Amino acid sequence: MNPTPLQPINHPLLEQHQVKLYFKREDLNHPVISGNKWHKLKLNLQAAQDQGYNTVLSFGGPYSNHIYALAAAAKIYNLTSIGIIRGELHDNPTLTDAKNHGMQLYPISRHDYRKKTQTDFLMQLIEKFGPHYLIPEGGSNALAVQGCKAIINELKTQTDLSETLIACACGTGGTLAGLIAGSIDSNCQLIGFAVLKQGEFLHDEIKQLLTLSGNSSPNNWQLDTNYHFGGYGKVPAELIHFILEFESYNPGIQLDPIYTAKLCYGLIDLIKQGKLDNRTIIAIHTGGLQGRRGIPELQ
Ligand SMILES: *Cc1c(COP(=O)(O)O)cnc(C)c1O
Repeated sequence: MNPTPLQPINHPLLEQHQVKLYFKREDLNHPVISGNKWHKLKLNLQAAQDQGYNTVLSFGGPYSNHIYALAAAAKIYNLTSIGIIRGELHDNPTLTDAKNHGMQLYPISRHDYRKKTQTDFLMQLIEKFGPHYLIPEGGSNALAVQGCKAIINELKTQTDLSETLIACACGTGGTLAGLIAGSIDSNCQLIGFAVLKQGEFLHDEIKQLLTLSGNSSPNNWQLDTNYHFGGYGKVPAELIHFILEFESYNPGIQLDPIYTAKLCYGLIDLIKQGKLDNRTIIAIHTGGLQGRRGIPELQ
């Protein structure tokens, strides 16, 4: 497959601060699944097949990119997919698409959803649905970390990563862990922007994921928790305004409101503050554009 483009970004602040900003267009890495979820899922679905499972099961909210991607990817691997959905089943494009890809959707209460990592609850799921390959919410596990290394490996064929700053949005931290693991010998730095409130816990999650996947845990990365905009899934008017402005400078590029918009807002704000002068920055466009369909101002 051809590498996804490494594309220069336009913004009026860049020249003033002598910053070069690029997007690694992982939103273009697959026609349907698109973005980091493909990298997180591919080795898991391969493992499910290799271990003789014919069903995969995972969890997500009603607008989840992970659920959407899992439904489409499982179909490619000829696996039956089951999505345990938090709250009520919304009649929305995300879940409609998931269903059309063959996913079986089961809504559970928010209360029960909180048990999604507890052993007895997972045992009940096996009783109810039969044997299945379990993928955690958001898809972050050791194989997801290994899968996301591919983004960096491809980048290395496109440019010299030394002295660059690699940036991505963080939900569970699995993608950033994979980028860290992939760039251990590259003399670059990395920064993750937490898209949820009180994202400090992600420090430990990321270190754990690195260890769990057999990678060392270097110190060349940091987490910025200042750009969550009120929490996961919160999309205030200021962020919508930023998306529309950013897209007007960069025809052909769209941002998703939940992840990459917060990443770009954070980066541009740090640039504005003079904190990234003279740097070369590569931001990973992790896809998720299906999520724009839930935001009327972006249609
Ligand atoms: C899920 C997702 C992320 C976050 O990935 P994590 O590995 O959970 O940190 C970032 N961007 C997009 C578009 C996503 O869908």
